[in-house]
Amino acid sequence: MLTKKCIVCDNSNLKRIIELGFHPLADTFLNKEQLLLPLNTYPLNCLLCKNCGHVQNEYFTPGDERYVESNYSYTSFNSEAAKKHWLEFFDSVSKYTHVEPTDHIIEFGSNDGYLLTHFKKKRIEVTGIDPSPVMVREARKIGVDSIEGFVGKDTIATAVRKKGMAKIIIGNNVVNHIENLKEAMSGIKSGLKNDGYFIFEVPSLKATVGKYLFDMVFHEHISTFSVRSADTMLKRYGLYITHVESINYHGGSLRIISTPDASAYNASLVKKHVEAEESMKIFNQKTYVAFMAKIIKDKNDVLAKVYSLKKKGKKIAAIGAGARSNTLLNFYRLDNTVIEFVSDASKHKIGKYTPGSLIPIKNDASLQAEDIDVALITAWNIGKYLTEKIRKINDTIEFIVPGEKDLL
Ligand SMILES: [Zn+2]
Repeated sequence: MLTKKCIVCDNSNLKRIIELGFHPLADTFLNKEQLLLPLNTYPLNCLLCKNCGHVQNEYFTPGDERYVESNYSYTSFNSEAAKKHWLEFFDSVSKYTHVEPTDHIIEFGSNDGYLLTHFKKKRIEVTGIDPSPVMVREARKIGVDSIEGFVGKDTIATAVRKKGMAKIIIGNNVVNHIENLKEAMSGIKSGLKNDGYFIFEVPSLKATVGKYLFDMVFHEHISTFSVRSADTMLKRYGLYITHVESINYHGGSLRIISTPDASAYNASLVKKHVEAEESMKIFNQKTYVAFMAKIIKDKNDVLAKVYSLKKKGKKIAAIGAGARSNTLLNFYRLDNTVIEFVSDASKHKIGKYTPGSLIPIKNDASLQAEDIDVALITAWNIGKYLTEKIRKINDTIEFIVPGEKDLL
């Protein structure tokens, strides 16, 4: 579905700022049988709302296709970095909200239930909400009570009926996946105590623009929030920001804490963040002309390097099979005729294929076993960390990191 209105403020003064071509869903890895079936692709463009500064995709793919039918493969338990991050989140949120054992916490987009296990250990009542039947099953296996569905009035009401109004509702890296914000936000507001908190993390527009993270754009990420657009959204549904901070997760995110109590609104902190966003000109259309020019230049530099190495007979593998690397591979038009395989540590992904580019996913040890000469780092913003890790597996390997100045 093509969108005509801003999902935060309903304004229709939207300008197209980012164009990445046609892409399949980024987080749906394919099994061998699916390689013989048709694959839906959709235009991947972003729009900037001239009224509230929100950035959203121009085309919304069907929600059921994204999470219910798909073999959505991300789990928190997969990743050490994710586990460390959620432990820090648990510590700081517990302190900030003074949550107690009689309280009820609801998390939507609760995935495999990992974050809620920390609160559960403190004897706090928890409920997870997630649309993926696979993830709900995983969460229940470890004792995290979970409801299958999207966040909204019905799912929140079900959770509240069972365990009471929530002291905290959490939605990390999921508010940016929601197209019907009205249904989600009204549901959240209806289930929250007056002295409760709605807390969420989302990748930030400031980091996306400032670090040229074009690969944070994919169909599952419907929105890219700024503090300005998040503040607009929350106020619309009767929630007020008490705290906001920039955190170093997913290349740069926002952690936003809000409450139904209007008197707790932290206007000066919101103002400070919005001014920083404005000084980076992220609400200015011209900024994105330079953004597109830079990412297209990087793409052409990488392709020139890749094909000159291919001509010399070098074997090239890509490192990291994430949703982001699929945006990169599909935007760069790199596929299984150029890249031998993508290496990844996740057992949920090894043996599958990348959507669109159809590259097999293998373990990191294959970089050595299959005599790979060159590694293309797709998670290029953590290029330094990954090059050091890969060197330990194969010390003769050469690296291509998109965006690096000495590429050619
Ligand atoms: Zn707007």
